[in-house]
Amino acid sequence: MSATQDYLDRYETSLMGVFGRPQLVLDHGAGVWVWDVEGRRYLDLVGGIAVNALGHGHPALVAALSKQVAEAVHVSNFFTTPGQIALAEQLLEVAEAPQGSAVFFANSGAEAIEAAIKVARRTGRTGLVAAEGAFHGRTTGALALTHKEAYRAPFEPLLPGVTHVPYGDVEALRAAVTQETGAVILEPIQGEAGVLEASADYLRAAREITSAAGALLVIDEIQTGIGRTGSWFAFQRAGIVPDAITIAKGLGGGVPVGALIALGPETAQLLQAGQHGTTFGGNPLAAAAGLAVLETIRSEGLLAKVAALGTWFQDRIGQIEHPLLTGVRGVGLLQALTLAEPVAAHAVTAARAHGIILNAVSPTALRIAPPLIITEAELDVLCDALPAILDEAAAAAADERTQP
Ligand SMILES: *Cc1c(COP(=O)(O)O)cnc(C)c1O
Repeated sequence: MSATQDYLDRYETSLMGVFGRPQLVLDHGAGVWVWDVEGRRYLDLVGGIAVNALGHGHPALVAALSKQVAEAVHVSNFFTTPGQIALAEQLLEVAEAPQGSAVFFANSGAEAIEAAIKVARRTGRTGLVAAEGAFHGRTTGALALTHKEAYRAPFEPLLPGVTHVPYGDVEALRAAVTQETGAVILEPIQGEAGVLEASADYLRAAREITSAAGALLVIDEIQTGIGRTGSWFAFQRAGIVPDAITIAKGLGGGVPVGALIALGPETAQLLQAGQHGTTFGGNPLAAAAGLAVLETIRSEGLLAKVAALGTWFQDRIGQIEHPLLTGVRGVGLLQALTLAEPVAAHAVTAARAHGIILNAVSPTALRIAPPLIITEAELDVLCDALPAILDEAAAAAADERTQP
């Protein structure tokens, strides 16, 4: 029996089956590469789902975390630490937050969303408006905002008062926002729905509609934030100031950390002492990770690099001719290759055999969200292999049709 087989058998008898059978058993990484337990190397273009912003083993992250582990991993929120304060200040700076803004640290994206829901409730209004196709997490509050039926249905009834509107439709949003609406929550790019970008005009209209109705505008930057699209936050291209931003994935470079950034004193003061809390949120280890990620994005000029790589990648993919490949969409290092047939899952399997990790974000779209430190040469590994991967995906799909 192979080492992988052995581990997966043990996995199946010890872990809850919510993720299905894992694709690989990994034991370490370096930069944008990861290795499985049999010593096979893979180019990781999924980056832990847009999490490993600095890849694996980045010296800045290793140094910051090693130092912090030796000093203090955790102290609880009865106390604060210099790192926690510094990270909050830096997040306010990169968010271009007005005076009186404030940060609440959590441990994950869903928890940042939960904090946003509680802030919205404190407006005294119980309505929430989210978009069709939205993904805001799996905890029971966040799940009420997530749109996918298969995720929701087994857990209904969910938090009441949520309306979903077609993403990108200004008039539908205007019609849904009423005097009962506490908050509108939107992703600037819907990652889980297949990397669908809202126009800057839509985001500006959302700002105008919520302001007019006295509702909060919460922008979910959990996937798109912290440089993923070539700016600190994807909403910044629209030139708006939301009332709150949720972040998580890339912020800790792999260490779990999430945050709600409330912009402006009115929103920042909605949650009063005792009305929310967390044991782990913003602990010294998480803060050190966040500070190392922000500092490295600055010192390595990653925002400009990510923006340029995104454009380069789209041009490069545009030159590939293959009957299955219909296009590429996205911004910076959040991109999806679109397929003419629903063979994305087969393409993921074929790519793995080529030593490349991709994500089938829908049956007809392959997502990449690699570390921000990736190079053109590394992205070229995918571009060079793509025609063969797509041929193999087509062949596997044809096989499946003839032998059901
Ligand atoms: C991943 C994600 C979440 C949920 O984050 P978790 O850390 O998995 O709880 C919420 N919103 C968006 C846009 C995400 O991509």
